[in-house]
Amino acid sequence: MTKFVYLFNEGNSHMRDLLGGKGANLAEMTNIGLPVPFGFTITTEACNDYYSNGKKISDAVETQMEEALLKLEEKTGKKLGGNENPLLVSVRSGSVFSMPGMMDTVLNLGMNDETVEAVAKLTGNPRFAYDSYRRFIQMFSDVVLGIEVYHFEHLLEQTREQKGYTADPEMTAEDWKDIIAGYKKIVKKHTKQDFPQDPKTQLYLAVNAVFDSWNNQRAIVYRRLNKIPDHLGTAVNIQSMVFGNMGDDSGTGVAFTRNPSTGERVLYGEYLINAQGEDVVAGIRTPQPIQVLAKDMPEVYRQFVKTSKLLEEHYQDMQDIEFTVERGKLYLLQTRNGKRTAQAAIRIAVEMVKEGILDKKTALLRVDPDQMNQLLHRRIDGSATKNHLAKGLPASPGAATGTVVFDADEAERLGKEGEKVILVRPETTPDDIHGIVASQAVVTSRGGMTSHAAVVARGMGKACICGCESMKIDLKAKQFTVGDTVVRYGDVITIDGSTGEVMLGEVPMIDPELSGEFKTLLEWADEVRDLGVRANADNPTDAKKSLEFGADGIGLCRTEHMFMDIKRVPIVQEMILAETLEEREKALDKLLPMQQGDFEGIFEEMAGHPVTIRLLDPPMHEFLPDKEELLVEVTKLQLTAPESKELEEKEYLLKKVQHLAEFNPMLGHRGCRLGVIFPEIYEMQVKAIFYAAAAVLQKGIKVQPEIMIPLVGHVNELKRMRALVTDMANQVMEEKGLKFDYTVGTMIEIPRAALTADQIAEEADFFSFGTNDLTQTTFGFSRDDAEGKFLQQYIEQKVLPENPFAVLDQEGVGKLVETGVKLGRQTKPGLKTGICGEHGGEKSSIEFCYKTGLNYVSCSPYRVPLARLAAAQATI
Ligand code: ADP
Ligand code: MG
Ligand code: MG
Repeated sequence: MTKFVYLFNEGNSHMRDLLGGKGANLAEMTNIGLPVPFGFTITTEACNDYYSNGKKISDAVETQMEEALLKLEEKTGKKLGGNENPLLVSVRSGSVFSMPGMMDTVLNLGMNDETVEAVAKLTGNPRFAYDSYRRFIQMFSDVVLGIEVYHFEHLLEQTREQKGYTADPEMTAEDWKDIIAGYKKIVKKHTKQDFPQDPKTQLYLAVNAVFDSWNNQRAIVYRRLNKIPDHLGTAVNIQSMVFGNMGDDSGTGVAFTRNPSTGERVLYGEYLINAQGEDVVAGIRTPQPIQVLAKDMPEVYRQFVKTSKLLEEHYQDMQDIEFTVERGKLYLLQTRNGKRTAQAAIRIAVEMVKEGILDKKTALLRVDPDQMNQLLHRRIDGSATKNHLAKGLPASPGAATGTVVFDADEAERLGKEGEKVILVRPETTPDDIHGIVASQAVVTSRGGMTSHAAVVARGMGKACICGCESMKIDLKAKQFTVGDTVVRYGDVITIDGSTGEVMLGEVPMIDPELSGEFKTLLEWADEVRDLGVRANADNPTDAKKSLEFGADGIGLCRTEHMFMDIKRVPIVQEMILAETLEEREKALDKLLPMQQGDFEGIFEEMAGHPVTIRLLDPPMHEFLPDKEELLVEVTKLQLTAPESKELEEKEYLLKKVQHLAEFNPMLGHRGCRLGVIFPEIYEMQVKAIFYAAAAVLQKGIKVQPEIMIPLVGHVNELKRMRALVTDMANQVMEEKGLKFDYTVGTMIEIPRAALTADQIAEEADFFSFGTNDLTQTTFGFSRDDAEGKFLQQYIEQKVLPENPFAVLDQEGVGKLVETGVKLGRQTKPGLKTGICGEHGGEKSSIEFCYKTGLNYVSCSPYRVPLARLAAAQATI
């Protein structure tokens, strides 16, 4: 027969699934020999049995409950409903995962008109007895009978006022007796029945109520949000009562074994003298710091300190403990692993290794990589008052305050003058980069977590909020409105990129603290991990940051950002607008020394670490002015200066822009398709790379350039580009009279490339999976549109489990990655492989990369610490 009921001495902490978290730990503490009031747990299976039995407790469960109750009575020497020494119990729900939406606890169950007299006599404390009884009626009515608490509180309030009392301790036994009579009337009025006097009836009603609460609306919603399966069910704990409200030698409290906010190794908690459980959290009376217990009851405090150490060592983790003191005797009522901030998690993990409680590997598993993000950015002071304005997607963490600007050029101008600005745009494009660089943060009203603004901001470690749709931006009027509130150019706002919140005015912030423990933990991660972690970095500043954060090299250096510099844009446009090869080469000659300078700076910073450089990738029209704007200018000029040279130039530009315009730029003339049609562009870039390599080598600094060809779909594309690179390398080596090592590889970001990776590997020294484009091309989702248009709803309606641009779609896109690796290594067994999409900084995707046998992941510099930890966790 299924065992549905476990006495506390029959369970242990590994039986969470069956006993719930609370029950499993009560059992464990009982077995350790700690002072836990005895009781039993009705299992989660009994809960499911209740549901399959038409919401009725089955005979099997009832029989086992009765048996357990007898044992409990035997052990305590008390009897439920007994009129000499009555047993009083608490009924406590407890699921596998803690669920705030669930039923609360009922205390003092077993009280009735007779047992209350027995308790009064037995304790010689009628006041206490009646207080406990009225508490029971109140809780039971609220939790089990569904009568709102305020009816009871109202009566209590009235009585206090009539008597002229300021607080409950002034109430006498007689007062409580009157209250009880009043409470019973309330119950009768609401349920049309008398308050149940039979303790067994009370018990079964309470257990039913706990089971029912598993499917109340709050609980269901909470499970949805936290992805907790519905079939788990909840356990119920029946535990004999101990009383913290028996006088000044009694009390109740909660404590963490370490400070959950900083991680410091001090007992951290609160307690109340002469109070019962719920009083501490209810906020009726202000609790005392736990240290005061040392003065009030030194012996109890000493014992509690000892016990909390023991529990911490037993569970090998920081504990969150609930306790009660009854007439100078300590009882434990709950323990669990305590929730903590990122900072505390790191400090506790590192210190526990030093204290010999944990080994390094276990410590590494104790910190959630996602939490680490909190530590690398400035953040809002949690205690500050805020003036909430709007909410968007939390696209890039960190907090920032600044004046609102609506234009990238303006942002740049003000930024250079030292003003702190926040760039607010409907969306951003590559043209806005200089403005983003100069801003503290970016806010867009459109676009998702991988929109241009989000990707760029994360890459720069700047705070960003995207898709803030309640914000109506009027670029002409230089203002935006949210409801009735108008925010104008120059007004100050504060944003929190970790929550997506936009606030009016300035809000105080806290600087990121990179503690010594943080570095220590990451060093341990490096000792353990088998997966490389590189950074995506496009300039010397980012390169430097990457090494500071512990990257093994650069996995993606995008060259298009180098073309966006204001001084270069005219030359880049000259190159694009060139009619003849000669003209184009002239422009390219001007760009070459500039690009060479970029690469020299990066190579020098990276001091011999590998640098993967991707040749030009975006379509050319991204470097040209906006078509609509040009059209307006041309029309204006036609009216005001019809014969002017300016009009002629603008018209030409417009023609070119129209000529280059594409319906689907993301599937258009970009990536290696540029290199194939205009080889002179790639030749210039490669030459600049190799000249830079030679120059840096001559300074005695090692270089490891890895040339990466983007968007290859057919091996012939790569074959040509490889030949181009080899040619240039030979030319430069000959010209400079020296030799350097280099490799040529490709991005795998088109499904066809993954499917023909065996052929492509013939021409490649390495593969780097560009999972942003690969996700886009595999799903056929346009990254720039999908998130704003339908992806959000897709996720809400569970058509897709996650946003595939944020969390790698392992079943689909992942299969292409696996295939690519497998086929590639069929041709070249040692083929080096990595990933360089946004996924390179996401923990579940990192784990996937490790399992798939990739050599490294590459992510933005600010995510490198997270990736180092996630890589270590994947290896463990
Ligand atoms: P929650 O899950 O909301 O914390 P609990 O079941 O832990 O609810 O109960 C809340 C509080 O009630 C406990 O912290 C404790 O102070 C008090 N309590 C529960 N059971 C007992 C008991 N058997 N004796 C004394 N106090 C109890
Ligand atoms: Mg509790
Ligand atoms: Mg790409």
